[in-house]
Parts: sequence; structure tokens; C-alpha cells
Amino acid sequence: MKWLFVFMTTFLFMEFSAWALHRYVMHGFLWILHEDHHVPHQHKFEKNDLFSLFYAVPSFLSILFDHLFKLPFLGAFGYGILAYGFAYFFVHEVIIHRRLKFISLKKNWYFRALNMAHKVHHSNQRKEDGKNFGMLIVPMEYYKKSIQMKKINI
Ligand SMILES: [Zn+2]
Ligand SMILES: [Zn+2]
Repeated sequence: MKWLFVFMTTFLFMEFSAWALHRYVMHGFLWILHEDHHVPHQHKFEKNDLFSLFYAVPSFLSILFDHLFKLPFLGAFGYGILAYGFAYFFVHEVIIHRRLKFISLKKNWYFRALNMAHKVHHSNQRKEDGKNFGMLIVPMEYYKKSIQMKKINI
């Protein structure tokens, strides 16, 4: 139970961590790696994809050390990062940017809200004056808009 708490806290903390990384680092001194995610192109991969390693490495090492030295705290921490990584990948690459096309978001109010918020983030192609740096938690206005759209469609 204790480790489930660590796992869930890590997952939640990751949203904040990803927000801060995006806000202050990716739109800061590492803009050089994030820029190609804001400019339209035809390539399959982006320099921006390298940021996944930023979390994949500590997650992998935490899980590895748990296996080697029986450190369940580190294991729960590592799996929390991993779970967030999967959620982020699913929402950002699959649902929003459609890099893999196997699901539509039109019917789900939550995904539609995340999509709207992130599209606003992308409407600005510059390093400065960005909006909506989070991924799984977005400003309230988008949830409201999304729910209203549903009412219109019915
Ligand atoms: Zn950005
Ligand atoms: Zn994006």
C-alpha cells in the first residue's frame, strides 16, 4: 500500500515536473532541441524526442536498482515515472499529434480538452510567450469548452 502511494505521488509529481521542464527548460536554454516540435515538418522523428530520455534513464535505473538491491521505494518511483511516460506518450503522440493513428478523440471530453489546450500551445511557434505547458492537467476553460461542444453535438 505504501508503495502504491509512492507510485501515485510520483505519477502526479511528474505532471508538475513535465510542466516545469517544458516551461523553463524546453522553452528556455534547451529550446534548440524543442524548436523542431513547434515548426511544421515532414520528418518522422524530432530532436524534441530526445527529451524522453531525460525521464527514461532515471526510471530505468530506479527499477534496475530495485531488482538488484531490493529497494522498493526506488522501484515504485521508477514505475511511477514509467507510467507517466506511457500516459504522456499516449496523450501527446497518439491522441494529439496522431503519430500513430489508432484512436480518435472526438467522443471523449477529457482528451478533447487536452487536445485543445495543447493545440493552443502549438499555435505559437516561438520560444517566448507560450501557453499551456502541462499535458494531463490543463486550465479549467478547456474542460468547460469541451463539455459545451458535446452538448452542441447531441
Ligand atoms: Zn513547447
Ligand atoms: Zn506537441
